[in-house]
Amino acid sequence: QKAEWAKLVNEQTVTKDGVHVELAANIGTPQDLDGVLANGAEGIGLYRTEFLYMGRTELPSEEEQFEAYKEVVERMEGKPVVIRTLDIGGDKELPYLDLPEEMNPFLGFRAIRLCLEKQDMFRDQLRALLRASAYGNLKIMFPMIATIEELREAKEILADEKEKLKADGVTVSEELEVGIMVEIPSTAVAAPQFAKEVDFFSIGTNDLIQYTMAADRMNERVSYLYQPYHPAVLRLIDMVIKAAHAENKWVGMCGEMAGDEIAIPLLLGLGLDEFSMSATSVLPARSQLSKLSKEELSTFAQNALLESTSEAVETLVKKHYQ
Ligand code: PEP
Ligand code: MG
Repeated sequence: QKAEWAKLVNEQTVTKDGVHVELAANIGTPQDLDGVLANGAEGIGLYRTEFLYMGRTELPSEEEQFEAYKEVVERMEGKPVVIRTLDIGGDKELPYLDLPEEMNPFLGFRAIRLCLEKQDMFRDQLRALLRASAYGNLKIMFPMIATIEELREAKEILADEKEKLKADGVTVSEELEVGIMVEIPSTAVAAPQFAKEVDFFSIGTNDLIQYTMAADRMNERVSYLYQPYHPAVLRLIDMVIKAAHAENKWVGMCGEMAGDEIAIPLLLGLGLDEFSMSATSVLPARSQLSKLSKEELSTFAQNALLESTSEAVETLVKKHYQ
């Protein structure tokens, strides 16, 4: 199997019926790129920028961030690189921000909510991203978007910084795509509205599952409720993909589910365009996808949505596709 995977390093990901899907990798720091390149990922589907801010005593400067983002897009040589703006809060803390303790951190002041309030910090990151966009195929993604107003405000701040940079003679990519994570059920349900105002979606199933099932992703005692194949979760994913495609936008997934061999046939059948996963999962997934027919799976996946339980869905996939 290892030898079979190795042969796929420099190949594109193509299904048995000839459809190209993009297999990308998730990273946390520029150091992760060695693994990404060694495993032949076709892009970066999620660069979690939190790590730049963590394990230190003060915010990273615009310059420091610019260097990190530039290094990543340059080393990816024109392949797409989706960089997520700061997603702090929840399980990730920044002591130097001195935020009050919360009863429910996962439902609290995190990610875009915090960035829209701490605008100086957010603007530094956006400027660094805009400047780095001139060096490759950079895309910006906002995390934890729950309302259209948040999205509009984030986009306005981005446009404002872009104008300022251009006025100062700084080169900024004119093709820069802006998308959002779909990881809150309200956003999945309202995906038709969001799809009109973004360039792409990336479904964050790690959070989408926990919020849909009301089951903390860190709590062992409720881990039985953490069900990627629950019909409700699959239906939300289906809605998001359909809404995006109705507006000719692409949809990726960057939660753990994207690299899961039971989920992959379902996601291909539902029409997912990009799968982003840990680098070590890329070649096994490419091999698996090359043996699957998207057309055949589209009927199969729609039928799977009608099953009553996660277990029934899993059994169905195993019976037909393993
Ligand atoms: C997700 O929620 O699925 C996701 C990719 O983001 P994170 O795991 O960083 O919350
Ligand atoms: Mg998340």
